[in-house]
Amino acid sequence: MVFSGIGYASHMAGYRIGHGYDLHRLEPCAPDGEGRPFILGGLLFDHTLGPVGHSDGDAVLHAVTDAILGAIGEPDIGQLFPDTDPAHDGQDSSTFLHDAVARITRQGFCIGNIDITIICERPKIGPRKAEMRTNVASLLGCDESAVNLKGKTHEGVDAVGEGRAIEVHVVVLLASCGSAAKDEAC
Ligand code: MG
Repeated sequence: MVFSGIGYASHMAGYRIGHGYDLHRLEPCAPDGEGRPFILGGLLFDHTLGPVGHSDGDAVLHAVTDAILGAIGEPDIGQLFPDTDPAHDGQDSSTFLHDAVARITRQGFCIGNIDITIICERPKIGPRKAEMRTNVASLLGCDESAVNLKGKTHEGVDAVGEGRAIEVHVVVLLASCGSAAKDEAC
């Protein structure tokens, strides 16, 4: 049996799902290497290594931004904020996220819930998970209960496991906020 595509789209009109992924190489911080200060989820961590990146290298905010953009079918973070643009050199990644949130608001969507998985050996995420969750929720303009964070290791294998990279996966569900939110954004 073949189901109608129109019927499926109509049923799902109030929800959009998106996936985001990011990986940054970790190197000694300046002046010994190219690593930037270790910023993750908008928080500064004390670590001898830092992410190599054109912006501040915040892998959590990059993956969250890409998940949101993907959910509404917009260009990805690299297309909107290319690493060839000097204006983004060292850029605070919350500006990318604010842009993505403005885009979903204009389309009448808000955050339903978001699930973030951070994979790295060091620094340890656990002690600062609550703080990061609060910060990400604040940046998204949603309740903390809509944001979940998980920290995992890579069991010592491959670049992530050897502490030479950090990896982040994000899944987000957007829900229609109705025409009111859309009108407010305009
Ligand atoms: Mg990135």
